[in-house]
Amino acid sequence: MSDKKLISIIVPVFNEQENISLIYERLVKVVGGLAEQYQAEIIFVDDGSADKSPQILEELADQDQRVKLLQFSRNFGKEIAISAGLFIARGEAAIMIDADLQHPPELLGQFIKKWEDGAEVVIGIREKNKNEGLVKKVGSFCFYKIMNIIGETKIIPRATDYRLLDRKVIDEFNRFTERNRISRGLIDWLGFQKDFIYFQADERQNGQAGYGFLKLVKLALSSFVTHSLFPLKLAGYLGVVITSASGLFGLFIIIEKYILADPFSFYFSGPFLVGVFLLFMVGIILSCLGLVALYVANIHGEVVNRPLYVIRKKKNF
Ligand code: UDP
Ligand code: MG
Repeated sequence: MSDKKLISIIVPVFNEQENISLIYERLVKVVGGLAEQYQAEIIFVDDGSADKSPQILEELADQDQRVKLLQFSRNFGKEIAISAGLFIARGEAAIMIDADLQHPPELLGQFIKKWEDGAEVVIGIREKNKNEGLVKKVGSFCFYKIMNIIGETKIIPRATDYRLLDRKVIDEFNRFTERNRISRGLIDWLGFQKDFIYFQADERQNGQAGYGFLKLVKLALSSFVTHSLFPLKLAGYLGVVITSASGLFGLFIIIEKYILADPFSFYFSGPFLVGVFLLFMVGIILSCLGLVALYVANIHGEVVNRPLYVIRKKKNF
């Protein structure tokens, strides 16, 4: 028994009363099929559900010793729920999977296979979803495009939270101290050897997605802000452009009108010149904002206090 590798399965749960027994049954079946080489712990993190999920989970935990239950005092969000799960996971690898059955548990074996083949992070990639609404499609396309242009870490389109992490990666992940976190981004930031599994995301069973349109937009914005300094610097760039353009134009007006006595007969008026001067000053203010942004960026980098480096292996110490 104890020579079998332990795999932790982490399931964040928020109001999933109809889905819990479904995902549990399917997980248990899959785990049963792998039982020759592996044992599993199934960690449910109840993220402050307001329905019957907590009771159902407690019953499960009473019946089945493999089920571990973390119950949050209120809703903290999926990202935090995953982090909590990773923190208490004891397995040699951990797999995170949604409770709404959009991530088919039957793929667990494939994740583990890739892991045994040397991948330290195995990422589930969602195949294109035909029934996806246009807004969501366009939205996610724009999000990944923008993110990959302005972000520091490249992210893979349609990469999901359905992931397996090796023990090394879990331990490194647990060192992150930032509060505002998108676990996908952090895992990508960590590096390590990656492999991918492509799957068709099923429709959500029962209940409704916790991430409506507004929440998704918020998530996207916070991804931009936490993984990129570009929005901050944008004001500065804009300022430099405005200042140099209006400065040159103003200079041209002064020379043309006052020094050369208007050889081209432009008849630039006094108020016009004042307008150009104001534009020049606005540009200077924006440039200064950009400068402040650089300092804020520096502070941001110090405050989130990410590890300086991440080590895969040590030898001969
Ligand atoms: N979830 C959670 N806390 C939340 C919202 C969602 O733990 O505040 C869980 C939810 O129970 C599910 C997973 O996170 O297991 C994915 O949620 P959802 O299906 O709402 O998101 P989507 O599939 O749209 O990414
Ligand atoms: Mg879902």
